[in-house]
Amino acid sequence: MRCLPLPLVDDVAKLNTITADASLASCPHLRSDKSEIIGRYHAYQLAKGNAAVPIAPTPTTLQGILQNTLGSKYGSKAALFDYIEEIRIAREINACPMCGAPELGSVDHIFPQGKFPDLAIFSQNLVPACLKCNSARQESYLGALPGERVLHPYFDRVEDRLFTAKINATNGNYRRPKITTEILIHEQHPLYAAVNYHYKVTLMRTRVLIDMDKWWVDFQRKDEVYFRGLETAHFTDQTFSDAVDYALWLSDKEFTTVNNWKSFLLYGLSTNEKAKIDLADTIRHIRSGHLRPDDI
Ligand SMILES: [Zn+2]
Repeated sequence: MRCLPLPLVDDVAKLNTITADASLASCPHLRSDKSEIIGRYHAYQLAKGNAAVPIAPTPTTLQGILQNTLGSKYGSKAALFDYIEEIRIAREINACPMCGAPELGSVDHIFPQGKFPDLAIFSQNLVPACLKCNSARQESYLGALPGERVLHPYFDRVEDRLFTAKINATNGNYRRPKITTEILIHEQHPLYAAVNYHYKVTLMRTRVLIDMDKWWVDFQRKDEVYFRGLETAHFTDQTFSDAVDYALWLSDKEFTTVNNWKSFLLYGLSTNEKAKIDLADTIRHIRSGHLRPDDI
């Protein structure tokens, strides 16, 4: 859902170092399977991390001892695996590249570790992610229908705005609207099936709706935090509309991607005239003292 540069890691050299390690002498399978693992790394690169193409690696059952070896190396604190910690820290970004949440803290295996133990420490299969969508996706990576697969931040160069919030009035107003999410790109888009699958196995399993409900209440109770240039209680609808557009621009800039949760909500607001007019009215009522913030 957002593009990231490939990690600069020599994965084959890492594998060579591991297999040359004397402490692994009791693990002959790793040495004997090394060339096969390297072949699967190359297949992964050729397929550009696309699990849906025929040349992509398929789930494999390796020798149990090899599976355990790579699995334990994934969690190792050894300096050899510092790159995994660097991927987790993700110094350059502040939104989850998988779901757009405003947080990180985890490393997600695009091809799940349980089915692809040979890719457990392969840097191109490891992406930073938030804790929630990493655990919620579990082993989902490939759907049943053509083109259905999880998006890959290192290989899918998608910069389009993919998702938005749909804001529907409840009880005739927008003070506590029903907010949902939806896909913005057209069904004819070549990546639509992948985006739709990715949406179902990542974003829809997160707390995005809860966070958007909270932001919406804050838009009314603490409007000055989000909307600039509303000097008094007498601003026009056009002034408010401009403030919403500016807040959206700022959110895209803050998270360095249009595909972040706050931008989903602000984009949904900026394109919903009724919601905008109603929200502006509520803010005017609060600012003029006719409505208490806690009554929202
Ligand atoms: Zn996430």
